Amino acid sequence: MHIHVDIAVKSETDLFLFYSPHISLYSREEKIYCCPRANQRKQKTVLKGEIFFASRPNQKFYEMIQNFRETLEITPISTTDLIEAYKICVCVRKRPLNKQEMNRKEIDVVSVPGNGALLVHEPKQKVDLTKYLDNQVFHFDYSFDETTTNDMVYKFTAKPLVQSIFESCMATCFAYGQTGSGKTHTMGGDFTGKQQNSAKGIYALAAQDVFHYLNHRRYADLDLSVYVSFFEIYNGKVYDLLNKKAKLRVLEDDRQQVQVVGLEEVYVTTAEEVIRMIQTGSACRTSGQTSANANSSRSHAVLQIVLRRNDRATTLPLHGKFSLVDLAGNERGTDVSSNDRSTLVETAEINRSLLALKECIRSLGKNSDHIPFRMSTLTKVLRDSFIGENSKTCMIAMVSPGMASCEYTMNTLRYADRIRIGLAGFHIII
Ligand code: ADP
Ligand code: MG
Repeated sequence: MHIHVDIAVKSETDLFLFYSPHISLYSREEKIYCCPRANQRKQKTVLKGEIFFASRPNQKFYEMIQNFRETLEITPISTTDLIEAYKICVCVRKRPLNKQEMNRKEIDVVSVPGNGALLVHEPKQKVDLTKYLDNQVFHFDYSFDETTTNDMVYKFTAKPLVQSIFESCMATCFAYGQTGSGKTHTMGGDFTGKQQNSAKGIYALAAQDVFHYLNHRRYADLDLSVYVSFFEIYNGKVYDLLNKKAKLRVLEDDRQQVQVVGLEEVYVTTAEEVIRMIQTGSACRTSGQTSANANSSRSHAVLQIVLRRNDRATTLPLHGKFSLVDLAGNERGTDVSSNDRSTLVETAEINRSLLALKECIRSLGKNSDHIPFRMSTLTKVLRDSFIGENSKTCMIAMVSPGMASCEYTMNTLRYADRIRIGLAGFHIII
């Protein structure tokens, strides 16, 4: 809503009279010229032009959502909540509005009442221009609101899987969602400073627990060693993040065993070593970009923590494996405004791999004999994760809270919902 100002502003002192934390000054082109935190240079620009006030864009929807929220009963997730043992767990995490969204006064259209529920208040308009909210409810195994820490998300999602690899399981944890929704923040760590704080992501938390269990009395007799590999899948090709992005081949033998030929598997003895490797690998992931499209949001990153039994044989037998996957952004087609062929190919490849992933998890949930893992490189290299009694999976769907992301948020939730619906009656191990 814009209100025209009929008062002539002659000096900066006059301008300051209008200052309020709730009001921004806009130009006719709707570009923000001056907001409460604007700097001096911008204030002078305002003085030269015509100004008028603007309240929050979409104020009406904002108020409708606020009114709706007052009726919601909130049960925040707590450390004392029961952690269930799932074969396949599907949950959702909402990130907070970021600084830019706050500055734009974007409205938050996602509510997380808890107990696995999440609501999207989709702003809509009738033909007669009446505004209304299309409130859509989703149910998952867990729902994490914007105040939830990585520690807490870890506790309910990946932590139960860490122990399972000591019991010979193949565990997999996926971060799924639109670019900017918090996948890397959740998996790789906190980026609030310039540097990535890898110690606070699920990768590092899982590594710490692996060493905790390794020294546990219960598993000491297994005589296990820990190895780590870290690779990226971009456009259907595998690149080793622990070996200067060496391009690797994926081969399948007669017994359908899939191998990434030449993948570095580094022997590690402490969680700190793993954290250093995460940092090296993450830096390698984002470096050397030649095209704007070749950034980390268009590739899947896979960190694997592998347990092998110490044996006299040259290839140590596999005991268990935990694959932690930071998936490529799921925004489809719409962001491809150009006709650039490589971008289109890239998008098609991402869509194919995410579709294959959904189908493979659904097949696992149905205990189906047919797992369509050959549909993409991602599912091929993760084949072990989808077969047999001993596979366990956790999908964390990340959503951005802003109204501008509403369409992508709905796509993410529908995808996660499809996986969960396919599991009905199959996914809880008692
Ligand atoms: P993605 O990997 O999905 O593209 P990022 O993890 O890079 O997204 O997150 C985008 C930005 O949002 C980053 O600056 C990140 O620090 C921030 N962010 C994401 N999730 C959260 C969160 N839960 N709390 C605080 N900041 C977050
Ligand atoms: Mg990312």
